[in-house]
Amino acid sequence: MLVLANLIDGHAHAPREGRYLDVVDPATGQAFARCPDSDAGDVAEAVAAATRAAPGWAALPVEVRAQCLRRLADLVEARLEPFAEAESQDSGKPIALARSLDIPRAIANLRFFASAIEQWHGESHAMTQGAINYTLHLPLGVVGCISPWNLPLYLFTWKIAPALAAGNAVVAKPSEVTPYTAWLLGTLAAEAGFPPGVLNIVHGTGPGVGESIVTHDAVKALSFTGSTRTGVAIASAAAPRLKKISLELGGKNPAIVFDDVDLSDETMATIVRSGFANQGEICLCGSRLLVQRGIYDRFRAAYLERVRALRVGDPREPGSDLGALVSQAHFEKVTGCIERARKEGGRILLGGHRVSVGGRCSEGWFVEPTVIEGVAPSGATNQEEIFGPVVTLIPFDDEAEALSIANGTPYGLAASLWTSNLSRAHRMATQLDFGIVWINCWMLRDLRTPFGGSKQSGVGREGGFDALRFFTEARNVCIDHRQ
Ligand code: NAD
Repeated sequence: MLVLANLIDGHAHAPREGRYLDVVDPATGQAFARCPDSDAGDVAEAVAAATRAAPGWAALPVEVRAQCLRRLADLVEARLEPFAEAESQDSGKPIALARSLDIPRAIANLRFFASAIEQWHGESHAMTQGAINYTLHLPLGVVGCISPWNLPLYLFTWKIAPALAAGNAVVAKPSEVTPYTAWLLGTLAAEAGFPPGVLNIVHGTGPGVGESIVTHDAVKALSFTGSTRTGVAIASAAAPRLKKISLELGGKNPAIVFDDVDLSDETMATIVRSGFANQGEICLCGSRLLVQRGIYDRFRAAYLERVRALRVGDPREPGSDLGALVSQAHFEKVTGCIERARKEGGRILLGGHRVSVGGRCSEGWFVEPTVIEGVAPSGATNQEEIFGPVVTLIPFDDEAEALSIANGTPYGLAASLWTSNLSRAHRMATQLDFGIVWINCWMLRDLRTPFGGSKQSGVGREGGFDALRFFTEARNVCIDHRQ
């Protein structure tokens, strides 16, 4: 069986205590690899290596750091297929999605931040009284990056790329549920030119490794993507140590369809994709579909017809639109949420059950795309993140009601809005309390833009220069040149 290792000080390291976790293929329910179940001792070694490496890395010209990121991107690109296979096997997602989204986006992240650091400039301010100020953006030293299982390499690189570009040494922890591609990436770091200790990857659980990174005094900043519950725990642990934190957390995103929408094929396809891409396991998925009453019946019929056509199947099959949910625990959570929706008075219009895919996938954790109607906006089904292939339909009368329902959860990550009325689109965009508002599109991403959520969906912004700002300390230098 494949045995993964930590990457510490440029070398593959077995966990000090010799403990391992099973890595399970969600499509088959079978373990295919073992991943280190590391602990505070492993983290301490990684932090020590990063502390030694950080000054040398920070002193390199930005072009050299950028070149390492670009070489890493090239190495991954040359292995796109094995990376896509690994991502699909590890997470249950269709291989077609790993090929078209996860791995290309990981490559793009590395290249984007290589360019961003080359383009980043400091500001200067000339004072009228004969002094000039300029700003230095200095690396922090050692930073921690902790990522989730839903877009494993995509989100892992979204953190480590700006951290490294900005001149920090990194101690990173991928999700223990999906460690495979981060491990693969780590095996390429030396060939890409990263000096030993600049990129360290420690595998293991949240309590075993995550907490040790968060509480280690030498780790100056923490970039975290995951659940709101874990985000709160990290914020609490970081607060007395006054560490910088960036938290990308859960969502309960609305897709709002007005009666003036142009219901083209492309619009319908995107709205369906926004609910069910990656089995609904994307923090940006629209899980509450708000539809204006005038078109509700017509829209529902067209929507159900399209969702019914989605194929749940073996992630390796090119025709599978949805694969397996990531783990047995998550499968139980999602199916439990569907049961709760029934108890809340929800009518299951479509799906609601486990899918038996058969063959090698007979033990896999597959769930039908599920559409539910009739749950009050205040019901738990419409308030709590499900993070699976489950969408609720909610009718509304006018803009005011749409806004009140859309904003009426503790979350504020992303909203999408479907309308042909330009004024309404702009009006709504200012009033929707979300970090991202998509108008007549979904998950259209420009990596230069600020990415993140409001309310319980997060703290801070990633992307573009925002990410570089997070991973650096700004220093004001003021020169009096009157004498
Ligand atoms: P999770 O919070 O359980 O775990 C995320 C990571 O944190 C994992 O690596 C885990 O091992 C680690 N961790 C767990 N407890 C920890 C602790 N006490 N200290 C430090 N690290 C700890 O989340 P998950 O189940 O892996 O991911 C799904 C969640 O992520 C969903 O809520 C989803 O909305 C969210 N998410 C958010 C975004 C975003 O950009 N806002 C993107 C993707 C996923």
